[in-house]
Amino acid sequence: MEKNSDPGLVVVGGVAAGMSAAAKARRMRPDLPITVFERTGYVSYGACGLPYYVSGDVPSVDDLIHFTPEQFKRQRNIDVHVHHEVTAIDPSVQTVTVRKPSGEEREVDYTALMLATGASPRRLAGQERFSNVYTIDTIESGLALQRLCAHISSVAIIGGGFISVEMAEAFRRHGITVRIFQRSPHIMKSFDTDMSLLIEHELSRHGVELYKGVGEVELEGIDRVTHVSTDMGRYDVDAVLVAIGVRPNVELALEAGVKLGITGAIETDDHMRTSVPTIYAGGDNTQGYSPVTGTPCYFPLGDTANKMGKVAGENIAAATRRLAGAWEAPSSRCSASPVRAQGSTNTMQRPSALTSWPRRRTTTTAPHTAHTATRSRPSCSPTRRGRSWEGR
Ligand SMILES: Cc1cc2nc3c(=O)[nH]c(=O)nc-3n(C[C@H](O)[C@H](O)[C@H](O)COP(=O)(O)OP(=O)(O)OC[C@H]3O[C@@H](n4cnc5c(N)ncnc54)[C@H](O)[C@@H]3O)c2cc1C
Repeated sequence: MEKNSDPGLVVVGGVAAGMSAAAKARRMRPDLPITVFERTGYVSYGACGLPYYVSGDVPSVDDLIHFTPEQFKRQRNIDVHVHHEVTAIDPSVQTVTVRKPSGEEREVDYTALMLATGASPRRLAGQERFSNVYTIDTIESGLALQRLCAHISSVAIIGGGFISVEMAEAFRRHGITVRIFQRSPHIMKSFDTDMSLLIEHELSRHGVELYKGVGEVELEGIDRVTHVSTDMGRYDVDAVLVAIGVRPNVELALEAGVKLGITGAIETDDHMRTSVPTIYAGGDNTQGYSPVTGTPCYFPLGDTANKMGKVAGENIAAATRRLAGAWEAPSSRCSASPVRAQGSTNTMQRPSALTSWPRRRTTTTAPHTAHTATRSRPSCSPTRRGRSWEGR
């Protein structure tokens, strides 16, 4: 295959980290060819708003989308291909294999590659057997859940993190009976217990049934789940939402020889460079470093993804920018009350040896060196939409 002189930047994954990297690289290098491949039908949206689309607070998914592929082309000269999945990377010749919507595959060269493949919801063993078990991560999954609300009267939510709390509110707004099953003694375990108790009180006040400290959850039924069984009882359900956390999408990276960190996500230096030359990574597939403890951490949050993407994009384009760390800054809404943690709560403190971010300085000239620590950004948070659950 004949090589282009500078095939430019190829980005895998077109949401927070991927589009931030592409946009930043474009601002710094107007001449750089930039191509984005995204396997779903949508790019550049706030997944944080999906529960508020399901609830009806956000009238259309279009309201969650910042830029369409056409706008990226027209306004920023970035080529965005949706329904295109990258299936392999060959770092020795700097190519990716891309599967087109037709199923046909082609090879695309890159000068720099940005892996922004995000994370996927964790699943319960065997949940694929049932047609009424859902997860929420993409626009497509938000659309499916929104349609579901008109057809069910009860739902079991497995897991008690911020997505569960937000989705409980969304379902209650449709008058659906909601039961949350949580393994740990309290919900929202990234908050300290006093905060979790307040959130639990608010959920109960709005009719959400909480089952905490449950053991194994069993889904019962033939093609559809009809009952959820736990050591606390057996409950009728019309549908199940599994929200038990995410796992980083690292398969492509692993096959390309990219090193993973101790969290199981991709390890980068503070310039977002992976262990393989010319391959960068950022977002929910990548581990960060806590500026509080100095240890590797995994905070799959939108703001962290945007910051990692921007730093990668800047370094790919020219400059030498450091990411000084990643704060876990979960924020959510429970009824009309915003709930938020910043920095390191007592619950987040885990005993581990102090390590420092593995730095590898570039030999290229650096126009400037800046330090960026992530912090939460209200624009991703639903707290400004303060309607009560009964408000429909
Ligand atoms: C319901 C919900 C609510 C949330 N609420 C909040 C919140 O309030 N605050 C907050 O900070 N964060 C929140 N988050 C998390 C936030 O959305 C993520 O941290 C953020 O989207 C991560 O961005 P990313 O670009 O790393 O990954 P993703 O958003 O997961 O995007 C990765 C993209 O890569 C694509 N992809 C993967 N592999 C390939 C491949 N091989 N080829 C082509 N494309 C590929 C995927 O299809 C996906 O679209 C929420 C998430 C969800 C699902």
